Amino acid sequence: MTNLQLYDTTLRDGMQMEGMSLSVEDKLQVAQKLDELGVQFIEGGFPGSNVRDAEFFVRARGLTLKSAQLVAFGGTRRAGLHVEEDPNIRSLLDAQTPVVTFVGKASAFQVQTIIETSPEENLAMIRDSIRFMKDQGKTVFFDAEHFFDGFLDDPAYSIQCLASALNAGADGVVLCDTNGGMVTRDLLRAIDCVKQRLGGAPFGIHVHDDTGLAVANTLAAVEAGASQVQACINGYGERCGNANMISVIANLKLKLGYDVVSDEQLARLTEISHFVSELANLNPNPQAPYVGISAFAHKAGYHVAGIVKNERAYQHVDPERVGNAKRVLVSDLSGQRNIIAKMQEQGVNIPLTGEETRHLLEKVKMMESRGYQYDGAEASFELLVRRSQPEYTPPFELEDFMIVERRRHTKNGDAESDMMGEAVVKVRVGAAVLHTAGEGNGPVNALDAAVRKALLEFYPSVAAVKLTDYKVRILDGAGGTAASVRVLIESTDGTHIWRTVGSSTDVIEASWLALADSLEYWLHKHGEGAM
Ligand SMILES: [Zn+2]
Repeated sequence: MTNLQLYDTTLRDGMQMEGMSLSVEDKLQVAQKLDELGVQFIEGGFPGSNVRDAEFFVRARGLTLKSAQLVAFGGTRRAGLHVEEDPNIRSLLDAQTPVVTFVGKASAFQVQTIIETSPEENLAMIRDSIRFMKDQGKTVFFDAEHFFDGFLDDPAYSIQCLASALNAGADGVVLCDTNGGMVTRDLLRAIDCVKQRLGGAPFGIHVHDDTGLAVANTLAAVEAGASQVQACINGYGERCGNANMISVIANLKLKLGYDVVSDEQLARLTEISHFVSELANLNPNPQAPYVGISAFAHKAGYHVAGIVKNERAYQHVDPERVGNAKRVLVSDLSGQRNIIAKMQEQGVNIPLTGEETRHLLEKVKMMESRGYQYDGAEASFELLVRRSQPEYTPPFELEDFMIVERRRHTKNGDAESDMMGEAVVKVRVGAAVLHTAGEGNGPVNALDAAVRKALLEFYPSVAAVKLTDYKVRILDGAGGTAASVRVLIESTDGTHIWRTVGSSTDVIEASWLALADSLEYWLHKHGEGAM
C-alpha cells in the first residue's frame, strides 16, 4: 500500500454545489460508503456554521467505520479574539472528531482586502488555532486557502503561512486552488518552491475545476510529492466543482500505480458513484470517466467490429475493474455486427441468418425513426428479435381498449386524489377473446389493471410482475411532424428487473406499448409464451 492519503470532502465542499442537498441521514450513508471505498479521511462538515453539520457529528458517533477517520472543518480563530473564546473553535471541539482541519488565508491580498487584518495577525490566527487543537490531542491539517493565487502575488507571504502552520504542529498543510484557475505548469512551479522552502514537510492538494484541470492538477501534484489528495465524489462542488474523487482514484490506481484502494474497492467505484448521485437526487453523468453509463458504450459499427474481435480495440481499461460494463449500442449508426453483439450481450440465443439480421437492422432503424430508443430498454429489444422470427406467436394481443377518465368535484379542492380512470379492454389469447374492465388512479393504471385481470385467467403467475418506474419523455417533432412521446417502464418480478419502451404521438398508447412489452417479455422468460 502507498502512504498517499485520500481525503474526501463531498460532505463539506461538495455540498456547496448548486442543487445539492443531503439530509443528515443521507450524509451518514455517504460516510459509510466512503469508508467502504477506502478513503482515510471523511470531512463531515462545518459544525460552526451549520446546525445540520453539527447534528451530523453527533449522529456519526454511532457509525462503525472500518478505516476512515471523521474530520471537522472550520476557520482559524477570528482576528482579535482569544482562541478559547471563539465559538467556532468551541463547535469544532464539540464535534468530537479525531481530526480537525482549519482553513485559513494563505494570500496577502486576501488577508488585507477580504478579512481586513494585518499579515502578522493572520499568521498568529493560524498558529494559535493549530496549537490549541494539537494540545487537545487532535490530528490537525491546515487548508491553505487561496495558496496558489496568493503565491503568484506574494510568494514569500504564502510560504510563511504554511511555515506558521507547520511550526505550530500541523500534521500537514494542504495547498488550495480555491478559485480553480490554475494551469498545471503554474501549479507545479509553486509546488517546487514549497518543497525547496519547507523541505520534507507533508503537503496535500485541494483544487477546484474551473479550468477543467482539477483531476490533472491533482495527479500532477501527487507525482510532485503531495501526500494527501482532497476531492469530492463525482466532482461535486461549487461552480465547476472540485477534483473528482472517482476519477482520481481510478487514475491513481490504474494509470499511475498508486495502490490507494484494493482491487475489490476499485470494483465498487461505479456503484458508489451512482449511489451518491441517487442520494443527492442528481442524474448520474452518463459521460463520467470510468463510471458513466456511456464510458464503455460502443456505437459506431466500425468500433463494434473491433470490440468483438478484441475488447482492447476501443477500451482504455477493462470496465469490470471499476465495476462498469461495456455496452453495445443499437442505433441507426449501427452495422449488422452491432445487432449480433447486442444479442450476445443480452443472452438472446436466437440464430439469425444474414438475411434475417439485415431485416432486423432495418426494423430497428425504422422503430428508432418513430422515437424508439433501445439503449435503455433491453427487454423490448429482445422482443423485437423474437418478433422477427416467422414462427413467433405472441402470448396475447390487445384487440381493443376504451378509457374513461373522471374527476369528481370536491369541496376542499383536493382534485388530485379524486382522479379516476376506468378501462375496458378486449384481449386475445390464442383463440379466446376476453372482455374485462379495470380501475385506477389514472388512465395507464386502469389499463394495466384491466389487462392483468384478463391475463391472470390464462397466466396466473403474471401476478408477480410489478411496475417499479415509469418515465415519460416528450420528443421534439422534427421536420414538421407531430411531437411524439417515449415511455420507459421498469418492471420486476421480485428477482429480476427489466426495462421496456413504447413510443407514439399519444401518451396512453406509448404507455400501453411499453406495458405490453413488459408482460410479454416476462411470459417468454417463464416459458408461458408458447401458446
Ligand atoms: Zn474547496
